[in-house]
Amino acid sequence: MSWFVQLSYLLAAVLFIFGLKAMSSPRTARKGIIWAGFGMVLATLVTFLHPDIHGVSNYILIVIGIAVAGVLAWWSGRRVAMTEMPQMVALYNGMGGGAAAAIAAVEMLRALRMLPDDLQARAASLAEESGLSVAAAEAALRAEGAASGSIAAALGADVTVLAILGALIGTVAFSGSLIAWAKLDGRMQRNSLVPAQQIVNVVVFALAVIFGIMTFFTDSVAIVVIFFALGLLFGVFVAVPIGGADMPVIISLFNALTGLAVAFEGYAIGNPAMIIAGTVVGAAGTLLTQLMAKAMNRSIANVLFAGFGTTVQASSEGPEGEMQDVSAEDAGIMMAFADKVVIVPGYGMAVAQAQHKIWELVELLQGRGVDVKFAIHPVAGRMPGHMNVLLAEAGVPYDMIFDMEEINEEFATTDVAVVIGANDVVNPAAKNDPSSPIFGMPILDVDAAENVLVIKRGKGTGFSGVENALFFSENTRMVFGDGQKVAGAMVQAVKGL
Ligand code: NDP
Repeated sequence: MSWFVQLSYLLAAVLFIFGLKAMSSPRTARKGIIWAGFGMVLATLVTFLHPDIHGVSNYILIVIGIAVAGVLAWWSGRRVAMTEMPQMVALYNGMGGGAAAAIAAVEMLRALRMLPDDLQARAASLAEESGLSVAAAEAALRAEGAASGSIAAALGADVTVLAILGALIGTVAFSGSLIAWAKLDGRMQRNSLVPAQQIVNVVVFALAVIFGIMTFFTDSVAIVVIFFALGLLFGVFVAVPIGGADMPVIISLFNALTGLAVAFEGYAIGNPAMIIAGTVVGAAGTLLTQLMAKAMNRSIANVLFAGFGTTVQASSEGPEGEMQDVSAEDAGIMMAFADKVVIVPGYGMAVAQAQHKIWELVELLQGRGVDVKFAIHPVAGRMPGHMNVLLAEAGVPYDMIFDMEEINEEFATTDVAVVIGANDVVNPAAKNDPSSPIFGMPILDVDAAENVLVIKRGKGTGFSGVENALFFSENTRMVFGDGQKVAGAMVQAVKGL
């Protein structure tokens, strides 16, 4: 590869790293996206100069691929609603895993195509040297063992091992992310595909590993195809039983896996940009997965294996007591006369796009001397940092926004906790109902506040589908309505005082 191409790939990788660094703060995130985007454009353009790309047909194929994918991404990116971003992220992540697996497939098939010529050439020279017939020499070479006619013989052992690992990880990330997309999009429920799924999963994984090893030694396309099919099947089986509180962990795990798969395939085809970018994504994704798992009080193994075969149904008996509601105006007045208010946003705030009205309300309350804070649960919304992004968009200063562990003790001294569009992240079942699918997940302890106001449209459950006893509690008042409309009515009520 020419020094120019190498250097350009390196530059692209540096842009990815700086872009990722800038994305770690909402203030610089936009800049980070632009840097990483430039890196991607550079890596794509310089590929046209890659010495391994021959023939007009290959260039035409690349241009068609870029045009089709570019138009699709542009179109889907423009029309996607903010609330549908998590699905889109899952889908694009899956595509990354699939692309890495596709590179492995191409490399393996290329190796298999090379083998017959390679073997025949070697058999011919052996026949000449030994006086055997060509067929006998070929048979002897095959009998010599794997290295004489295998993918590993054609690609080299190190490249083959990494290509196989990347293929396994990439296929799992591809099919698993597609299932995550279907779930986030409401097209699929948490489910068990087969009875005793835990055992079936272990068997499918073991078979995938066995066929992965066989792929190293084989010269048969069928083995390679079965290996890829098992990887895809395992991804589906991993993702299908996962639900509720574990979804964010599994999504970030697939993200980390995609990074690793890209890095391995980058090694297989000698592309430094893919190696560096994939390693960075793999490392960042692994850290995020660990943070999410810790925040959810789960180990990664527990997320991956505990749910298999044990689809938990939410109890059909609803919580005891009755929901009591209050008008938006009365709720606004209650906040205006409080000393301390803590606002807990959730996915419903994103659906309602209520963040701007909420910030207007908060400014009015602050003008009256009310101490107002925001409390963010690590999995509120549908993607990590979802609520922080929305609040930043509305102009809420960062020093008013607190993480769960920073603020949980403060609810006991809070006059009014306002829950807007949040449900699972404030559900006490996570603390006191061992049969609940969200049991064990730490929650925001809003029930400790003197008064709780819950803004939501009706009696719908949250992502996990579990009833919430908080809504039936003595100190809770429901404010029914769309989040933005309710916040608007509250603003008017406070202005009218
Ligand atoms: P939930 O999904 O638990 O609850 C959202 C609530 O918002 C619903 O109960 C709904 O009730 C209400 N709502 C919907 N639309 C509106 C609207 N227009 N106005 C007012 N309210 C509305 O949200 P949480 O943020 O509490 O919890 C997040 C859940 O998502 C967790 O289970 C988490 O595990 C999961 N998850 C999180 C991911 C992440 O990375 N953060 C990724 C994937 C899943 P109603 O219909 O009655 O209005």
